Amino acid sequence: MGLMLAFFRAYRWQTVLMMLALLLSGIAEGIGVSALLPLLNIALGPEASGAIPGAGVEGQSEFEQTILSVLDFFGIAPTLGSMLLIVLGGVAFKSAFLLLAQRQVGYTAAQVSTDLRLQLLRAILRSKWEYFLHQPVGRLTNAMASEAQRAAGAFVNGTTALTFLIPGVIYAGVAFALSWRASLVAILAGVVVIGLSHFLVNITRRAGLKQTTLMKSLMANLTDTLQSVKPLKAMSREYLADQVLAHDTNLLNKSQRKQVLSAALLNSGQELMFTAFICLGIYVAMEKFDMALTTVMVLVVALGRAFAYFGKVQKQYQKLAEGESAYWSLTDSINAAETAQEDLKGGDTPTFDTSLTLENVHFAYDKQPVFQGLSLQIEAGSLTTLVGPSGSGKTTIIDLTIGLLRPQSGEVLLDGVPLQNIDISQWRKMIGYVPQDTILLHDTIVHNVTLGEPDLTAADVERALRAAGAWDFVNKLPDGLDTVVGERGGKLSGGQRQRIVIARALINQPRLLILDEATSALDRDTEEAVRQALVALKGQLTILAISHNRAMVAGADTVYRMSGGRAQRSDSDSQSGLAK
Ligand code: ADP
Repeated sequence: MGLMLAFFRAYRWQTVLMMLALLLSGIAEGIGVSALLPLLNIALGPEASGAIPGAGVEGQSEFEQTILSVLDFFGIAPTLGSMLLIVLGGVAFKSAFLLLAQRQVGYTAAQVSTDLRLQLLRAILRSKWEYFLHQPVGRLTNAMASEAQRAAGAFVNGTTALTFLIPGVIYAGVAFALSWRASLVAILAGVVVIGLSHFLVNITRRAGLKQTTLMKSLMANLTDTLQSVKPLKAMSREYLADQVLAHDTNLLNKSQRKQVLSAALLNSGQELMFTAFICLGIYVAMEKFDMALTTVMVLVVALGRAFAYFGKVQKQYQKLAEGESAYWSLTDSINAAETAQEDLKGGDTPTFDTSLTLENVHFAYDKQPVFQGLSLQIEAGSLTTLVGPSGSGKTTIIDLTIGLLRPQSGEVLLDGVPLQNIDISQWRKMIGYVPQDTILLHDTIVHNVTLGEPDLTAADVERALRAAGAWDFVNKLPDGLDTVVGERGGKLSGGQRQRIVIARALINQPRLLILDEATSALDRDTEEAVRQALVALKGQLTILAISHNRAMVAGADTVYRMSGGRAQRSDSDSQSGLAK
């Protein structure tokens, strides 16, 4: 129920519309059924009501009397034709309102999954880098795909339960009006059974929770495993991946079986029980209260439909219980990511005219220290290269300068202003970043350079491609800028891909260009072409590169050699030894 309250709070007007349509649909159905009694009496003649001795006792005719006086009030004669029209009209209005209600439910459910997906996406993209790094990709894809879908499904189940509850109550009301004593006996018995069979709903709820947990772990394991499948295949150890994934998959199967069994038990048990209670109601009505046959017939219809609806309510509730945990898991992920939001806005407008400085920086990942008093300076307009063994902290320096990570003590200064006093969002707009893995989109070269930013012109694309040293080869391609680069850029060579990604980083005319091992996979000729392109950019912008390449070291104004959490500086005139 907590789930439905959460939904109703979030989608107030949609809920009000839906409830109103449901209520009107239920009332229309109730009116249609109420016309059944006079209809039967007309069809079967007065002898039917007298078929059972004692018929026409005050309590039994009261309901019919009320209906007849209402008809009289509206000037409707209780003829066969008018009664049939009322029955038909009731069903028609019920169907129309139900259609409106169900359309509203469907639209709102689609909105629920869309909103949940967008909330998660935005929260994750705005979260702190350290938080983001710890999120398994598989878990996020699972939340976006399966959990959002199941949560929206739970919403549909909850509202469908309401769709059934309202007419159920109205039919029960009609049954009570016909004979409150017979109906009370039948309905009480029904409530007891619904209560007793609630354990089946609880089994389903637990199975649903188990599936939510298992899917999270399975999807996280799956993406990890698929990323490292090549070495496993190369060493004929695929069975190791199989073992891990098959274990979770089999547990998932077990939990699904439990869920199917409890749903089937509820389904088959309900029908038998409810029929028994209707029989009980008929017995009580005819034997104990000597009711007229026509009244009993309508009572059977009303009770039968009331039970059918209550049964459906419970089945929908069971399905809701199955999907509920997906909604809570998804909202937990959204809340956790929102709590870990980056503080991007506010602070001074950044300038980068003189230098970017790290001053006595102490930084540790969790408890593992990387820097204990690191200082270095990157002059504006220069090309600075960071070299050093893997794990010596080069990437961490870049993440600190971007403001993705914050030092535990010490300062990162931009033109002498601490980064925490600067509007980080504006600072990042001044950065062009080229990662080690250059993944291109399966799209045209123009799109790969602009990433679809609408303000960028063809002239901007040409300027960026020229600056990245890519213009000549792009021009020679059959479709030029409109050449589709293939899956992950497969139609281009590694060096060509790299230069497209550099053009992508340059298109917004950054003040700082960061190359994170971006040139390490290039052959000598390509590397030289990229180096020349970069050297030509010196002065217009600042370049910070992590690279072991001879060319990137030789072309640098300043080289920092990292080791033991410290940076040893050598400038262009004294670094020839490093370039070897
Ligand atoms: P480099 O770029 O020089 O290879 P990094 O800056 O990536 O070095 O890493 C510096 C140190 O910090 C290494 O010891 C690495 O294991 C550790 N490290 C890097 N990223 C993380 C992380 N997200 N969580 C914990 N430790 C990390």
